[in-house]
Amino acid sequence: MNATENERRQTAQGIWQRLRDVLITPLVRGVARLFSSEPGARPVEPASTGDSGIDSLPAVFLAAAVLDPLYIFDRNAEILYANEAADRAFGPVATGASLRLKFRAPEMHALVNTAAAGSEEPVAINYAERVPVERAYRVVASRIGNDTGLFVLLFKDQSEARRIDRMRADFIANASHELRTPLASIAGFIETLRGPARDDAVARENFLQIMHNQTQRMARLIDDLLSLSRLEMKPYLKPGGQVDIARLVEGVIEAMRHLAGESGVVIESAFPAKPILVAGNPDELVQVFENLLENACKYGGSGGRVLVSAEQASPLDEVRLTVRDFGPGIAEEHIPRITERFYRVDVETSRAQKGTGLGLSIVKHILTRHDARLSVKSKPGKGAAFTVHFPPVPPAVQSSGQ
Ligand code: ADP
Repeated sequence: MNATENERRQTAQGIWQRLRDVLITPLVRGVARLFSSEPGARPVEPASTGDSGIDSLPAVFLAAAVLDPLYIFDRNAEILYANEAADRAFGPVATGASLRLKFRAPEMHALVNTAAAGSEEPVAINYAERVPVERAYRVVASRIGNDTGLFVLLFKDQSEARRIDRMRADFIANASHELRTPLASIAGFIETLRGPARDDAVARENFLQIMHNQTQRMARLIDDLLSLSRLEMKPYLKPGGQVDIARLVEGVIEAMRHLAGESGVVIESAFPAKPILVAGNPDELVQVFENLLENACKYGGSGGRVLVSAEQASPLDEVRLTVRDFGPGIAEEHIPRITERFYRVDVETSRAQKGTGLGLSIVKHILTRHDARLSVKSKPGKGAAFTVHFPPVPPAVQSSGQ
């Protein structure tokens, strides 16, 4: 009976004994290395153990404390230990089960084989699980100590990072597309003005007006993109100060009367006379209500009127501001998506109304910074109601407002 067979026959108790006696420091070093960036990175030396008690700490405690799925396996790819995160992510396994049967993907076999063959450096692959939900992992295998014959397999879940990468790539593609369209139109008109329309004064005036509109569209888009990026740079910085939100919205309504008149819309408001205080930054809150009122006039203008109301049942209740229009409304399936960047129910209508597709996304960002939220109720043909919910300012902290 050779040494490996002997080793395999050890009881689970014996393995843990061995892990505890021999492997504490190498495992600490191995786990520390796995959490350093990538294979090949300089291993982090464990702190001097001194009399901290780490020498008597069972290795399995350390492995169990790791929040990412982790397996310890031997040269035969038999699983000696799986932590709770591994059981949760991939289902429980019996001690001694084969890692190669547990993970059948060829790239996992190659990874395990390379590690078990004695690779000095940790080895890593990208690995995807498709069921029950799609998840992407960076999987690292590294040996524990020089001659223990034991190895660690650690899964780092990268799904969220990948999702954010994809969103960023989509965002850049969308923003470029939005800018390229007016740019292409301007370039086309310049060509026409240099060529066929060179001596046509009427056409020239007409084309210059279109070019002017297109440059304005690009400027609006850049303004909105800058607003979004400014907000993203300080997402958790809570705006200080208190604002009488009823007076602030009345000011926005006054400023919007002109646009409303152009869309044939009358804005009505129903506000209590006393101040309604919320915590926040007045400039950002003006931007929120400008966007909501502008949308109500642009998209709900056919209803002829927009109603803005404010309510707070008691000083301890949330403050609700609602902008309601009586236009075509928004079909249910679009409502969850309208605050996404560049999402429009109808691209042509939005463009015709000088929309950038970023307005409600800016609104959502600002409200999140204010611990506030937006809710939308709409029935096609019956208009749309956008309600902003602010948390109450406890009376004890209320200053005189502004
Ligand atoms: P846009 O710049 O296109 O106006 P927004 O982010 O402000 O972008 O709005 C996203 C989309 O939501 C709009 O393109 C429009 O389709 C829809 N929408 C917003 N407000 C209303 C409303 N009051 N009535 C109907 N549709 C609306």
